[in-house]
Amino acid sequence: MKITENFQSSKTLFAFELLPPLKGDNIDTIFDTINRLSPFDPSYINVTYHREEIKFIERGDGLLERRTIRKRPGTVGIAAAIASKYNIEVVPHLICGGFSKFDTEDALIDLNFLGINNVLALRGDNIHGERSFNPSQNGHSNAIELVRQIAAMNRGEFLDSEMEITKPTNFSIGVAGYPEKHSEAANLASDIQHLKAKIDAGAEYIVTQLFYDNSKYFEFVRLCREAGINVPIVAGLKPFTTFKQLSLLPQIFHVDLPEDLVREVEKCKNNGSVREVGIEWAIAQCRQLKDAGVPALHFYTMGKADNVEQIARAIF
Ligand code: FAD
Repeated sequence: MKITENFQSSKTLFAFELLPPLKGDNIDTIFDTINRLSPFDPSYINVTYHREEIKFIERGDGLLERRTIRKRPGTVGIAAAIASKYNIEVVPHLICGGFSKFDTEDALIDLNFLGINNVLALRGDNIHGERSFNPSQNGHSNAIELVRQIAAMNRGEFLDSEMEITKPTNFSIGVAGYPEKHSEAANLASDIQHLKAKIDAGAEYIVTQLFYDNSKYFEFVRLCREAGINVPIVAGLKPFTTFKQLSLLPQIFHVDLPEDLVREVEKCKNNGSVREVGIEWAIAQCRQLKDAGVPALHFYTMGKADNVEQIARAIF
């Protein structure tokens, strides 16, 4: 089923995002998270995709060997395992980085064989240590191009022109949006124009970057509507958990932290109480978003279910 059908419901849906476990770890950590959150009737579960990292390893002869390492492989396998074990839709993320257009076509054909019809199409983060995004050879430079390729496959247009069977795929495509602007965009207006291009190319809904100030989300939705973007805009939320996040979240995600939140966190004596502040803040955010009729609340769990469980108990 396409998750866009779920958005037709008048109630605010519950959704969450999981990271594939670190290489060598067990898939049971994923199932534990799902088991704890499934009583709140999640509408769908996203599974992130992680790009390779470049490492230079000493070879012993004085020379360095360049290695490509992926710390969190397994997105497609995990999505398929979730789909077969639970009666919940899965949304694997698909990125441009590290993929040629032919690799992308093959990855989508794998998903199609597995009966997975939902994808979140992203450009992907830069390789760690690289200043800007570098596409793969014959790969996409931005998510607009990736959405175009998936939409073309949905029309039965494949890259491999010698294919004898070109049965169209049937993917529902989601994309990312940034209420506080993507870090590389010149301004919010141009970022929203690029977002509109993703919708015009065939994306059917948007999931936002995390935010802690609901007014940023509401203003973003207003600007999107003004720009002619009429698809559902799902609110992305990540409960605040540690002192370190006071500096890390603005640095990594380019979001502002409201003064009231910062003041409450600074009053805390330890990370245990920061976590409680984060839960209370998220509950207040969710109540307001739900009252405003947002289509879904999408939690970035980062593999930790306990705080999201407490929030979901208060909201759903
Ligand atoms: P794009 O939509 O391509 O935009 C990137 C930048 O390029 C923006 O500044 C945009 O304004 C600009 N731009 C776009 N098109 C053009 C154009 N034609 N000309 C000029 N400029 C243009 N990363 C991962 O690696 N794996 C994940 O699983 C993952 N999941 C995510 C889930 C969500 C909900 C969100 C919000 C982000 C996620 N990310 C993930 C992070 C994301 O990959 C990064 O934020 C990345 O830098 C941008 O991805 P995008 O799809 O928004 O890119």
